[in-house]
Amino acid sequence: MHRDAGVGHVGGNLSALDAMMLVHHEMLGASDRFVLSKGHAAGALYVTLWSRGLIAEADLATFHADGTRLPGHPPARGLPGIRFGTGSLGHGLPLAGGLALAARLQGRDGRVFCLTSDGEWQEGSTFEALIFCAHQRLANLTILIDYNRLQGFGTTEEVASLDPIGRVLAGFDVEIREADGHDLAAMRRALTPGTDRPVVVVLHTVKGHGVPALEGRLDSHYLPLTEDQVREAMLGVTGSPPTRESA
Ligand SMILES: [Mg+2]
Repeated sequence: MHRDAGVGHVGGNLSALDAMMLVHHEMLGASDRFVLSKGHAAGALYVTLWSRGLIAEADLATFHADGTRLPGHPPARGLPGIRFGTGSLGHGLPLAGGLALAARLQGRDGRVFCLTSDGEWQEGSTFEALIFCAHQRLANLTILIDYNRLQGFGTTEEVASLDPIGRVLAGFDVEIREADGHDLAAMRRALTPGTDRPVVVVLHTVKGHGVPALEGRLDSHYLPLTEDQVREAMLGVTGSPPTRESA
């Protein structure tokens, strides 16, 4: 999809994909909600929704094209499983906190999952939302942090350090858990519901996970894949080179 569209953000999609798949396939019930705050991982979300039969395969081929239903960031309406347009970073947690409080006020069951990047914890609105969620003791809220330690312009440590983020957020009245974001068993343990407070799960991830040429590389944030990277990725995953070259 990203190759055909000629767009980047591949690294941050691959770091978040395992968590998104796990939540959607094993945890998300009809009354639960998922908010992708790091909207630039829309490609991974679309693939996840496709894998659950909520998006048609034909739609995937239109990713990022003019007139598509699948733009580069999640659209505000029109797709099942997506409730908000996101990707202006720092907006997802405020929305998720609102959903979690609304569920409680309406006496509804259901968990709310919010997947944030690590870089967007530099946004004030994310911290305002965390204060709100902790104060409201939204135990039905689980916040996942894709802690790949890279953001658009450098490592999180270089740009504006909150590292290690689990220790920083432990100062709030939330339950902090940590897990390898590519270890499904570890994530299953870490993503069990909270009891009396919001749960924050720091997922230790690798940007570009699964494609050695991208793993841990800053340029996997913005840059489109090269043909060599596409070939390596496809060989690694399927054992075969791409069936066609880019358009
Ligand atoms: Mg990051």
